[in-house]
Amino acid sequence: MDESNISFFDKEGRRLDGRRVDELRPLKIEVGVLARADGSCYIEMGGNKVIAAVYGPREVHPRHLQEVTRAIVRYRYNMASFSVEERKRPGPDRRSYELSKVSREALEPVILTSYFPRSVIDVFVEVLQADAGTRTAGINAASVALADAGIPMRSMITSCAAGKVGDQIVLDPMKEEDNFGQADMPIAMTPSGEITLLQMDGHLSQDQFHQAMELAIKGCRDIYNLQRKSLIDRYNQLENVEAEPVEEVKACD
Ligand code: ADP
Repeated sequence: MDESNISFFDKEGRRLDGRRVDELRPLKIEVGVLARADGSCYIEMGGNKVIAAVYGPREVHPRHLQEVTRAIVRYRYNMASFSVEERKRPGPDRRSYELSKVSREALEPVILTSYFPRSVIDVFVEVLQADAGTRTAGINAASVALADAGIPMRSMITSCAAGKVGDQIVLDPMKEEDNFGQADMPIAMTPSGEITLLQMDGHLSQDQFHQAMELAIKGCRDIYNLQRKSLIDRYNQLENVEAEPVEEVKACD
């Protein structure tokens, strides 16, 4: 389809899904969803449904990957074959290697790896449903799952994209905007504004770049508030369960 044939905005300036240019898609975060992982998180960012599982720190296999002064971090991004309209061929491909690498690099700077020499922290990200922005959803979920696993971190990491469609800068592009738009710029950052991921697909002028950056940072701030809230809710919930009086078990006659 030719991008010039698509109208991305209605007469009131609303986008194809009714959002304003500076609006995120609906966001949902659930913490501690997997019993066998040390930390886990399920996230929905619009049509994206992504789960992250964290294991470790634990022993490194194969052993030759061990680092004597720090833990290594492994990140595996995987898209389920049923996550997209036309069945995706299962297994790793160039795209998943790239996304795994940049996502790991987005998270690694805040993980206190020197606390755990000779060990590994494994992060698995499974995309169950994809609608553009799966790397940002994966990083957001992974950051929460790392915190849920009790991995010491300097701070959380939050990720969000801004894009350009119909010559306008928009926050958090969905699939049609990503596929037929003019640019897509995912970022990841700490709450204090340190950027740990910056990618760009397409072209932006210097002014548009600054505009996109500002919008993406605003998006990250909103997502961070929900990441924080969902972790606090989870731990309040666990505390309440622990505080509940345990029913006395009577011995059988
Ligand atoms: P991101 O999901 O981080 O935006 P891309 O820009 O590479 O990463 O992909 C944009 C969207 O294109 C994905 O979220 C997904 O909806 C779709 N997509 C990616 N790879 C495939 C594929 N192999 N088959 C079908 N759709 C895909």
